[in-house]
Amino acid sequence: MRRKVSVFGATGSVGRNTIAVLEEQGGAEAFEVVALSGAGNVALLAEQARRLSARLAVTGDPARLGELRAALEGSGIEAAAGPAALLAAASEPVDWTMSAIVGAAGLSVSLRAAGHGGVLALANKESLVCAGELLRATCARHDTKLVPVDSEHSAIFQALRGEESRAVERVILTASGGPFRDWTRERMATVTPAQARAHPNWSMGERISIDSATMFNKAMEMIEARELFDLAPDQIEVIIHPQSIVHSMVGFNDGSIMAQLGPSDMRGAIGFALNWPERRPLALDRLDFAALARLDFAAADPVRFPALRLARAVMREDGLSGAVFNAAKEAALDAFLIGAIGFLDMAILVEHVLDKLAPEAAQAGTGYDLEAVLDLDTTARRMSGLWVAAYSGGR
Ligand code: NAD
Ligand code: MG
Repeated sequence: MRRKVSVFGATGSVGRNTIAVLEEQGGAEAFEVVALSGAGNVALLAEQARRLSARLAVTGDPARLGELRAALEGSGIEAAAGPAALLAAASEPVDWTMSAIVGAAGLSVSLRAAGHGGVLALANKESLVCAGELLRATCARHDTKLVPVDSEHSAIFQALRGEESRAVERVILTASGGPFRDWTRERMATVTPAQARAHPNWSMGERISIDSATMFNKAMEMIEARELFDLAPDQIEVIIHPQSIVHSMVGFNDGSIMAQLGPSDMRGAIGFALNWPERRPLALDRLDFAALARLDFAAADPVRFPALRLARAVMREDGLSGAVFNAAKEAALDAFLIGAIGFLDMAILVEHVLDKLAPEAAQAGTGYDLEAVLDLDTTARRMSGLWVAAYSGGR
């Protein structure tokens, strides 16, 4: 029988890689594709839906329904648009869901998909950062298996197979360090969006690429690791590894380290999540150690990259400080992209909003619901906007 699958964020960087893996692993003959989603790129969405004979294609943008319908004409594929249609699609039961929308917009979709069992392949790290406890509880209640797609967390997940959790001493997240790994703060102050977009090793969406340059991406991944693997904050370490070949490591109580290595290609983690609990052949490059010759490691610097320090503060708090952190980070990135604030201001803004909303975040405690998360997300974005306005006005 064909496995039922849905892919949310199919037109993005992870999404396109997911479609490529699904096609490589048998395409429409092996998978019954229930829903694919995108936002602006309706032509690509329609093309993907046709290639995989999807039942339904959904664009998050309600203004593009007509365009999507036209692009699907004669295919028999149903078209839908808007946030409500997206949630309805995510509620359709499937065996495997890829959650690869970017940003907090992916949270509601992850939660819906967690509500119908099967495997939830999670690329949208924001879901865990904003509402880790809620997502994990939803998965537990519906017997949904959460399989991480972020390469670091896939590495840790793989290294933990067959191990007892009480034997885990620490996890070590590797970080490329981004394009400004060795830059001084003075030099970083002048960085433009175009410079920040160019990741040295991975080809990814614009937002995560810039988050890698500030190391906000690694900060998010520290929080993501805490939520996924039930770790204490001081069990989570970050090490700079410029080659991005060691995807991350687990340290055990006997001093042993298990590392997962591979090419810097997201199809590896996506394929692993698709075939889990099995391993199947994937047509990726094989590592050539003689050609690589060396793997370097260096300490990560929380002074030049304050996002790492802020992540530690967030991990120490219960409640919804992760949701505040993410919303302020997304707002800061929006402001940086339009030139309203500078590269280094992003962390200053996030720290300001985290401080201001600490009482509200703590008050949420445990047992919060989606509405509480979305409310605090809105508040944090509004507060970020005020900071940006005051900043721009003062210049
Ligand atoms: P991307 O920007 O390339 O793609 C985003 C996708 O989400 C697109 O399909 C877009 O149409 C859709 N989308 C955007 N806003 C939407 C909205 N409001 N409603 C509905 N759909 C919307 O992003 P990406 O780089 O593929 O990243 C996706 C997620 O995966 C992010 O959470 C990112 O942190 C995570 N991730 C990405 C990579 C990578 O290699 N790119 C690696 C690890 C984790
Ligand atoms: Mg990652």
